[in-house]
Amino acid sequence: MLAAVKTCSGKGKAISVRRRRFLIGLAAVLIFALVTMGTAFWRYREMRAALVADGTTLHRVLSQRVDQHDAHMTGLSALAQAADPPPVDAIRQVTASILRFYPRIMAIDLADLADEQRPALLGAGLPLETVFSAMRRSNTLLTVVPVEGAERVMLVKRVPRTSASQYLIILLIDLRKLIETDRFGPELGPVQLTLEGQPLLTASPGLDQAPIAFEAMLASRTQPLMLRIASPIRIAGLFPLGILTLVALGLLLCAVIVDRLLAARMAAKEAGARALLAAQDARLAHASRVNAMGELASGIAHELTQPLTAILSQCQAGQRLAQRAELDRASLLTAFEASARNAKRAGDILGKLRSWVTKGQPVVEQVDLAGLISDVVQLTAAEALAHAASVEFTPPRHPVIVRADRVQLEQVVFNLVRNAIEATKFTTHPARIVITLTMAGAAAEISVRDNGPGFGAEALARVFEPFFTTKPEGMGLGLSLCMTLVERYGGAILAQNSTDGGAELVVRLPLMARDVSSAPSEAAE
Ligand code: ADP
Repeated sequence: MLAAVKTCSGKGKAISVRRRRFLIGLAAVLIFALVTMGTAFWRYREMRAALVADGTTLHRVLSQRVDQHDAHMTGLSALAQAADPPPVDAIRQVTASILRFYPRIMAIDLADLADEQRPALLGAGLPLETVFSAMRRSNTLLTVVPVEGAERVMLVKRVPRTSASQYLIILLIDLRKLIETDRFGPELGPVQLTLEGQPLLTASPGLDQAPIAFEAMLASRTQPLMLRIASPIRIAGLFPLGILTLVALGLLLCAVIVDRLLAARMAAKEAGARALLAAQDARLAHASRVNAMGELASGIAHELTQPLTAILSQCQAGQRLAQRAELDRASLLTAFEASARNAKRAGDILGKLRSWVTKGQPVVEQVDLAGLISDVVQLTAAEALAHAASVEFTPPRHPVIVRADRVQLEQVVFNLVRNAIEATKFTTHPARIVITLTMAGAAAEISVRDNGPGFGAEALARVFEPFFTTKPEGMGLGLSLCMTLVERYGGAILAQNSTDGGAELVVRLPLMARDVSSAPSEAAE
């Protein structure tokens, strides 16, 4: 059961690590998505603000430029009125300097509206039919006449108060040059000019759908031109790759740090839990030892009787030898040596009892399992006798050595033998417990088999659960403690029903490395 709990908690830990990493990853991805969207929104606002700023500046510049057209035409109009017919040479001189300084003004001419057959006075070669037909429809002082398919407009102004003729001053404007400027940044998108809804420049692709646009009417009373600047959204502009890569790397680093911190916290928690469990184990072991002590007492009493009786008889023999007239030193020495040996044995037995009862720290040492089992057989001899049970153990020819705490392993074997003796209580046939010690590969195997009733189905599934017992006086701690102790030394314990009835408990412990290499391949028994 304890093993099962350990396996489950191990799996749980693996799942929680995966889950923790998944949640940290998810959080990092969400933060990255938020940062990306935030950056895109911020960049969008910046682009929009830049477009509005550039648009406003361009609007001011263009408004000034179209105002200049007004001024030129007013000046030329005044000159045309100065004489009748207008002073062509003087006008030509003025237009020449205007054309030189203002490259967007491509041509200037003077035409007579009253005589459409009459050629233009400055001979600039402008399409006069278009001008006349537009002016017949227009009654404003200044009319803007688009030149179809040429990205140009003609500005036509009537020269007032001429007696015989109706003169028109015509300026041909190159719209590309009108909007041309090198003062704006890359945020400035395609520029469009429209006259009463009619586009005057060849439309740039995607201009209508552009999500960011600036639109304003030029500040001119005579030239009602609408300015529109659009900026297409460039993905690279919205999502600056460099910044986002840095953010992603930063988040990755944060995720790793958070993962490490959480892992360290969990490890500390687990270490605390393990320490608690170990303390519980120690308390359990102590409780079980105290419980076992009661039953040990009869065994100890039996064990002590023998050396004490021997000491008594050796001392009496010594007394008799000492009373003799002739002192037999050799026999006296033998009697003393024998009683000293027995006194030591009695002392060992009491020492064992003390170490069983005290809750000292385990001492890991080389333990000869054959010797250990023989000791336990002796300790349980009295109890076996009381139940008329025979406990058989034939030590193997080769020593079987493991590394463990001797007292704890004795306790394991003692629990198993005691359970076996108790199980044979109600058998009708002679009670028999057989202990074997073998080597199987890299492990030592102790089997304790009895001819009792064996395990019931429920007991077989639960024997290693703490507090599971079928005995009225039982504590149900013996086998769970055995499992904890055996696992502490890298071993395992299993319970099964043997083929000829009765129960069999098998303890497997890793052999000391030296024994593994020298272990005979067959059972060592
Ligand atoms: P306890 O002896 O105090 O009941 P254990 O943990 O030693 O506690 O044993 C748990 C239970 O396992 C026992 O109550 C008994 O039902 C069963 N059991 C142990 N050893 C044997 C055995 N040799 N034969 C049959 N049943 C056994």
